[in-house]
Amino acid sequence: ARYVYRFGGGVSEGGTGDKNLLGGKGANLAEMASIGLPVPPGFTISTDMCTRYYEEGARFPDSLRAEVADGITHIEGITGKTFGNAADPLLVSVRSGARVSMPGMMDTVLNLGLNDETVAGLAAKAEDERFAWDSYRRFIQMYCDVVLGLDHGRFEEALEIAKEDRGYDLDTEMTAKDWKALVDEYKKIVKELWDKPFPQDVHDQLWGAIGAVFGSWQSERAKVYRRLNSIPGDWGTAVNVQAMVFGNMGETSATGVAFTRDPSTGERAYYGEFLINAQGEDVVAGIRTPQYLTKAARENAGAKAASMEEAMPETYAELVAVFDKLETHYRDMQDIEFTVERGKLWMLQTRTGKRTAKAALKIAVEMASEELITQEEAILRVDPSALDQLLHPTLDPEATRDVLTKGLPASPGAASGKVVFDADTAEKKAAAGEEVILVRIETSPEDIHGMHAAKGILTARGGMTSHAAVVARGMGRACVSGAGSLAIKAADGVMKVGSREVKAGDIITIDGSTGEVMLGEVPTVKPELAGDFATLMEWADKGRRLKVRTNAETPNDCRTAREFGAEGIGLCRTEHMFFDAGRITAVRQMILAEDEAGRRTALDKLLPEQRKDFAEIFEVMAGLPCTIRLLDPPLHEFLPHEESEFAEVAEAVGYEVDRLRRRVSELHEFNPMLGHRGCRLGVTYPEIYEMQARAIFEAACDVAEESGEAPIPEVMIPLVATRKELELMKAVVDKAAEAVFEEKGRTIPYLVGTMIELPRAALRAGAIAEVGEFFSFGTNDLTQTALGVSRDDASRFLTTYVDKGIYARDPFVSLDVEGVGELIEIAAERGRATRPDIKLGICGEHGGDPASIAFCEATGLDYVSASPYRVPIARLAAAQAAL
Ligand code: ADP
Ligand code: MG
Ligand code: MG
Repeated sequence: ARYVYRFGGGVSEGGTGDKNLLGGKGANLAEMASIGLPVPPGFTISTDMCTRYYEEGARFPDSLRAEVADGITHIEGITGKTFGNAADPLLVSVRSGARVSMPGMMDTVLNLGLNDETVAGLAAKAEDERFAWDSYRRFIQMYCDVVLGLDHGRFEEALEIAKEDRGYDLDTEMTAKDWKALVDEYKKIVKELWDKPFPQDVHDQLWGAIGAVFGSWQSERAKVYRRLNSIPGDWGTAVNVQAMVFGNMGETSATGVAFTRDPSTGERAYYGEFLINAQGEDVVAGIRTPQYLTKAARENAGAKAASMEEAMPETYAELVAVFDKLETHYRDMQDIEFTVERGKLWMLQTRTGKRTAKAALKIAVEMASEELITQEEAILRVDPSALDQLLHPTLDPEATRDVLTKGLPASPGAASGKVVFDADTAEKKAAAGEEVILVRIETSPEDIHGMHAAKGILTARGGMTSHAAVVARGMGRACVSGAGSLAIKAADGVMKVGSREVKAGDIITIDGSTGEVMLGEVPTVKPELAGDFATLMEWADKGRRLKVRTNAETPNDCRTAREFGAEGIGLCRTEHMFFDAGRITAVRQMILAEDEAGRRTALDKLLPEQRKDFAEIFEVMAGLPCTIRLLDPPLHEFLPHEESEFAEVAEAVGYEVDRLRRRVSELHEFNPMLGHRGCRLGVTYPEIYEMQARAIFEAACDVAEESGEAPIPEVMIPLVATRKELELMKAVVDKAAEAVFEEKGRTIPYLVGTMIELPRAALRAGAIAEVGEFFSFGTNDLTQTALGVSRDDASRFLTTYVDKGIYARDPFVSLDVEGVGELIEIAAERGRATRPDIKLGICGEHGGDPASIAFCEATGLDYVSASPYRVPIARLAAAQAAL
């Protein structure tokens, strides 16, 4: 088998299509080389090798030695330099590169090939001693960190001391002599920490680095990142070995990162940062404040340091031409890394740029308008789940704010929470249900779990492309970065802004769209849903077949859902209305009643209340189908459980306390979720369902009378297992309808159907469809009953189940397509066989989950139903599923 693929100097043994084999970075380097962009030559060791490396106990097969040697010869041939040669040494970078980008998660070593001899050759050739020693000290530090695993703090400390001793502020003030002295210092540290001198053999260096890059695939932080992003552990990383180009060769050299459009807003403006006389990670590491790429961005920010457009106009023009070429070629926004060596531009990386939901929408819509992509591609470009970021509230512009300071608007959205200064605490507090803002001087990959747990992230250092900014945008967390006036003393649990002090646990609000940091919680308002959002939704609506309804039971939720585009109610849970303060007493009287007469007296009190509930909902939903589920939960949920409540409740319902206590214990159930609930209530106490049906039809007639438009009630009987249950309950509903229509002198079309939420119901769907006019898959209970997993207790073991791959994802979040999905398919098929026009929908939480929606489309359901805020997500996911 072959493991090495070359690129550069007119050769390109791969391209973008080879990401699985070459990793994203390697595939795109080869692609850029093949479209004629300036890429330093190199080669990629494939991801297959990573797999084999681990299979063979972290060892390389012998055949790889020859292949790598050929690869080095390829680079030497193009550059004219020789690896390890003292007079004119070839230096390389050894770079990781997985199939999908895992920003900052894995390791890279720069300037490899330097040793005590070659450093002199490099200095002589470049006519610049300072640059050579700067490169060598960087190499030693990186190599010790990545390959030898030595404490990088010691090296940083040594540099700090070196600068302090000389009275320097910046690394750029260090002279050749200073760097040379630091290299000696570094070598001493290596000796001390590692017991051996720094490796001088360049081939040992190379193999050490290749092994370390493969090794970084299994680092803890990489594993956490993979888990959070559902990246399989067996994909492996590729290794790229590439000729070095130098951005640290003086004032005509530079390094930078850029996006072809603004990754935060999506605007069509080149966007990026660069640093003159710098190398590699300097821009993202926040060591020096980077300069803007464009003049407009610099002016906008009121910054002084010249932009690249101003400082290097010719190279900038070249770079812009590359941006345009890349966008047209890849037909998507690109995230680019480049280096300028003495005025010559080199491309080091390109990939599809991560972006906020807002930017994703704008870029998709604008690229379709520019005819770079089609409308269908635009629909597919936006991750439905990411819309969540846009639908949630932003800061109320009217609210007063106590602004502490301002940083960079690194990732939009507003977030309030308690200040925490480290990732572990953030994770702990969030797990305990608290909302936290993670505040760090700067973040690193070790903070990833805390960033995930936090509502927002605030850093004192780092630019718009810093680690914090990039990761926060990817995760959809609000982030303000580079708030330079923050003095953070994490160890003391405080940060200072000027004379003001904020302690750990104090509440702050950050606005990732403006960069503002405020003390206390600032109220929020609903977002504006016009513009690009509306346009893309319109395109999505044209493309989808599935209808989208909402799960809602208050007029307010119904209005929100309609604004979000809901086309009806898929689930209105009537029991929520029973808990209202005004009526809980009547509900309790009904439950406690020992005979039908007693129940009817209580139900008579509830009827006008329920009618009012339904009338309000029907007014909002006039003309649309409204599925209303009759009473479902076990009755004792409505009763007091604490001894302290008994006296008050007894008084309210007119019982002696002892009698109340006895009734409550009579109603106690050992396993209430499988107990006296759902249609079993209707079967034992038909008068309850009769009252509810009457309230529905009276309200529907009243609304039709007043507004001229009736809703279309779909009365849903819960927890049916048999045809007979549904038959009995349908008779109750039909009788109520008939009576009401007679009294009101008008008829309203309605349906009676059932939830399919028990495996028996799914199997007996053919018989049940003889009675039921629609099925709604109640996938929360169906998952619970099919898997035999209580959804209220599942969290104790489900994470382990997902970690061990028993279920790919939490089956209560994303439908278990294999098992529960098969039950749905069986029920749909058997239901349709009996009643070809039977209406089929889904009303579990899964109705708002894109993967589950794809299944609903494939199964040919008529609609999905989701909570109001997930309605747009469902609309977009339904369109994607249909395309
Ligand atoms: P990451 O995946 O963490 O971005 P990279 O492999 O892209 O790591 O390397 C990080 C940075 O190192 C690059 O952005 C680039 O600035 C620098 N770099 C990598 N390879 C070279 C090279 N051959 N010449 C010059 N700089 C390089
Ligand atoms: Mg990179
Ligand atoms: Mg249920």
